[in-house]
Amino acid sequence: MTNQSCIDFHDGNRIPQLGLGVYKTPDDIAAPTVRKALESGYRHIDTAAIYENERGVGEGVRSSNVPREDIFVTTKLWNDNQGRDKTLKAFDESLNRLGLDYVDLYLIHWPSPQRGLYLETWKTFIELKEQGRVRSIGVSNFCAEHLDHIIDETGVKPVINQIELHPMFQQAELRGAHARLGVETECWSPLGQGTIFENPTITSIADKHGRTPAQIIIRWHLENGFVVIPKSSNPARIDENFNVFDFKLDSSDMQAIGGLNSDHGRVGPDPMKAEF
Ligand code: NAD
Repeated sequence: MTNQSCIDFHDGNRIPQLGLGVYKTPDDIAAPTVRKALESGYRHIDTAAIYENERGVGEGVRSSNVPREDIFVTTKLWNDNQGRDKTLKAFDESLNRLGLDYVDLYLIHWPSPQRGLYLETWKTFIELKEQGRVRSIGVSNFCAEHLDHIIDETGVKPVINQIELHPMFQQAELRGAHARLGVETECWSPLGQGTIFENPTITSIADKHGRTPAQIIIRWHLENGFVVIPKSSNPARIDENFNVFDFKLDSSDMQAIGGLNSDHGRVGPDPMKAEF
């Protein structure tokens, strides 16, 4: 059993707040990595068609001792499959690769506004949810204007927006839009892709609590109410990153980490400028 917390979606489903990211983890490593994470207590795995490891993730899920209904699996539609027909085909292919009957969460990976297809794609996601093969539908890398557009046109809100968010890039404005709309915030590259571990604010808080920098950053995400999906395929780090449910940051820690934000702190692409 796992003692971690969950976040309630507006559609009645819930997501375990801490999950495992598997970007750049090839199939043959993804399977044992996912199995190991599930043995360690993780109940949430974040993959995507573009990661080319849905087969390995599915194998890890199916070969673990944890019942399927206790595991939360997210996958994502890649940009060149936006539009109704391609989305339906791409979803079938993802489900086949995963070897599962349903996914818990399906995300539009990027709005890719230059394609002009994210609204049509969102309408197709609504169909997939109605068919029951997707339990919840959401988006990733959407800006406030993209969220407003799909909600205004369909009346259906994504349950979550998965965005770049870590102590160096805290996205206060977009989080405000999420709060206004009732959309949960999920953080990709939550550890800043490993670039924040030597920050003196983080290391001094880590020393104070006798914890590692990664654990401090993950705790900061959890206490902010975010869903957080740190990536590792190293068994010791997988355990380290999950070992965060027996301590808390205090308000001075939260305030100090809150002060690390920089408007130039992105480590990934800007969704308004991305051309893929
Ligand atoms: P991350 O912030 O999770 O950092 C991962 C890096 O930190 C890796 O190099 C890893 O080896 C290192 N690391 C992890 N735990 C550590 C520990 N305890 N000690 C020392 N080093 C440690 O970066 P990420 O992989 O970019 O993001 C996490 C997940 O977010 C991805 O795997 C993927 O699932 C998702 N993601 C989504 C999008 C999107 O567009 N939706 C984009 C990027 C990533």
